[in-house]
Amino acid sequence: MATTQRSEDYQKVSEEPHKNVIKNPYGPNPGDYLSNVTSFKIIESTLREGEQFANAFFTTEKKIEIAKALDDFGADYIEVTSPCASEQCRKDCEAICNLGLRAKILTHIKCDMEAAKIAVDTGVDGVDIVIGASKYLRQHPHGKDMSYIAKAAIDVIEFIKSKGIEIRFSSEDSFRSNIVDLLNIYKSVNKIGVTRVGIADTVGCANPRQVYELVKTLKSVVSCDIECHFHNDTGCAIANSYTALEAGAKLVDVSVLGIGERNGITPLGGFMARMIAADREYVLSKYKLHKLRNLESLVADAVEVNIPFNNPITGFCAFTHKAGVHAKAMLANPHTYEILNPSDFGLSRYIQFASRLTGWNAIKARVEQLNLDLTDDQIKNVTGKIKKLGDVRALNIDDVDSIIKNYHADVHTPQVKPANGPSIPDKDEVLLDSVKKPRID
Ligand SMILES: [Zn+2]
Repeated sequence: MATTQRSEDYQKVSEEPHKNVIKNPYGPNPGDYLSNVTSFKIIESTLREGEQFANAFFTTEKKIEIAKALDDFGADYIEVTSPCASEQCRKDCEAICNLGLRAKILTHIKCDMEAAKIAVDTGVDGVDIVIGASKYLRQHPHGKDMSYIAKAAIDVIEFIKSKGIEIRFSSEDSFRSNIVDLLNIYKSVNKIGVTRVGIADTVGCANPRQVYELVKTLKSVVSCDIECHFHNDTGCAIANSYTALEAGAKLVDVSVLGIGERNGITPLGGFMARMIAADREYVLSKYKLHKLRNLESLVADAVEVNIPFNNPITGFCAFTHKAGVHAKAMLANPHTYEILNPSDFGLSRYIQFASRLTGWNAIKARVEQLNLDLTDDQIKNVTGKIKKLGDVRALNIDDVDSIIKNYHADVHTPQVKPANGPSIPDKDEVLLDSVKKPRID
């Protein structure tokens, strides 16, 4: 079951847009002429890389549902599993091509003429060809030398180009490949007119600085677009994607929730979070961000995983503020502790006031929501009572509301103390008392 927002424990606060945003310090450097941070495209690979995720098995119907959802979200390209993988994969590829989606459909094959013929026959808008160029891949999966790779690539590229569709050439495991070999082969394929070349961090070893240097160097030797593919083994996939765009790459491969081989690739949602921080207008103009949560739920359910609690944007607490100091500032101006505006994603921010970390400003806002009338001093007083109970156990909104309501009743109802009887305890003290003593039924 997917993790859900425990909305009853939180206080929804205003959807007011962030104030006082004059200049975005998180955007691209104006003098950075290489950067495509404000003009990038995504190649959505949930139906290719994502099918390599350990839990993934997509029926034809599920693939079509996901493809339509990705198209509706605004994916520029949708990449699907090689039609050579199985007969059903070939039929599924054809079925997705026949949907008439706005997004361009790509498939991903080894650099092989037979595979290329099968791929172009499915009706795709483009073919991504890939070949291992690192010394590891040349020793094991295909055992070919660089001159063989170059010749095979050129024949296959010429064939695909002759069909009038897009063609991308990518090396696999690019960051562990010989840079001279890589640049030579990219120069050759650029010369014969590929639509784009790709760099793939197949093992997730690259760091942002290495990415910047490789992409910038590649940019200086090819005239076509550059696509990047980053695995997340060392947690750098989003940072590497952003850095690649800064260095001149134009397209980034993503998948919903980052699903893919091992722990996957750049996640669509996290990448959107990074990019909207850089250029909100561009991202909002291209992608329907309010569809992200449903898209993630669709894929999470299909591969039987939860949305991670700390997921950017859609993690259950991504827009929940708890500490008293934070709550006070957020109630005054959401920009204080948020770089992203939840309403851009069709989501709400919450102040979690039911804990011992709460502050009187958050409780004041709750008192106002409850339409109760208390002075600031009274609110500070009742906040102390809430914190006292919060020291004993976890609180929920009902605990807090009952303390507030009891306190409110007390201060608005003059108490008559019995002449000789015992004093009546505060109601919230009764509540506090009840949790201290073990209950015996
Ligand atoms: Zn991959």
